[in-house]
Amino acid sequence: TPPLLEVDDLVVHYPAGGMLRRREVQAVNGVSLRLEPGETLGLVGESGSGKSTLGRALLGLTPVTAGHVGFDGKRVSGRDRAGLAHLRRNAAMIFQDPFNALNPRQTIATSIAEVLRVKGEVPPAEVPARVAALLDLVGLRPDLAGRKPHALSGGQCQRAGIARALAIEPRLVIADECVAALDVSIQGQIINLLIELKARMGLAMIFIAHDLAIVRRLCDRVAVMYLGRIVEEGPTEAVFSSPRHPYTAALVAAIPSLDPARPLPADPLPGEPPSPLALPPGCAFHPRCRLARPECREMAPPARHDGERITACVLSPDEITTTQPRSMEP
Ligand code: SF4
Ligand code: MG
Repeated sequence: TPPLLEVDDLVVHYPAGGMLRRREVQAVNGVSLRLEPGETLGLVGESGSGKSTLGRALLGLTPVTAGHVGFDGKRVSGRDRAGLAHLRRNAAMIFQDPFNALNPRQTIATSIAEVLRVKGEVPPAEVPARVAALLDLVGLRPDLAGRKPHALSGGQCQRAGIARALAIEPRLVIADECVAALDVSIQGQIINLLIELKARMGLAMIFIAHDLAIVRRLCDRVAVMYLGRIVEEGPTEAVFSSPRHPYTAALVAAIPSLDPARPLPADPLPGEPPSPLALPPGCAFHPRCRLARPECREMAPPARHDGERITACVLSPDEITTTQPRSMEP
């Protein structure tokens, strides 16, 4: 059987705005990935790595420059609108700011009912009961149904946003930094809710986040993006406990530790990522890579597959782990 989502060599470039409008933002530069039904993939990387653009492109919300997206065995990208329509009926996005996802002039019950009406599969007489069931599913009290977004807390509002996303009974959910705007205690509650929903509904999820600790709790697999490419991918625990790409190793080393015996290394990841308007030649990470070799400036390393793990680096896993400073060891 084909995977639920299949992405081959996806490229998304778009014109830069303002004074730079003649130049191109090279946001996504050849991404391939697979997602099985019920699986959760974390997409991590610094801001500007192309995670959000990739997420939007997968749902057809951003035009694709090249490459192929397939959903449920049907082609989504390109001219075939039927594939995109099928995807839209079965995939939903959860946004960072739930206040933007909900209409501020409508009660949350009305916002959710609207989605059900558009989908058209629930008889009108059954809509109120279905709305109540969705609010219950995300842990919102029935008396909140009549409130508008501004009369809810941030956490309640994100629950309402999730209820609205689930109204179409999606098989795939793409969540872009969906807890980043919330207080830490509320973040935990929303993550628990997602874990529960995932198990109950068999949802496949792409969880875009810069917070690696959250990704570690929630995701089966993780893909690490740098300047529009996946530089490492694999089962979450394996990738976080023994990173095989120097960029992943630096991200992992930068996770604050609760162990005072393991202080943060001085600067695991020096500098900022280069602009996606002008990618460095060769391996785009080479200007920041402590292990870079002369050939890294010349040639972009191809993705190397080893069982469930994928790494795009010229070094072998041994060379990366044995040359890490002590503080980078898991
Ligand atoms: Fe560093 Fe070279 Fe590997 Fe890129 S290919 S991550 S520059 S060692
Ligand atoms: Mg983003």
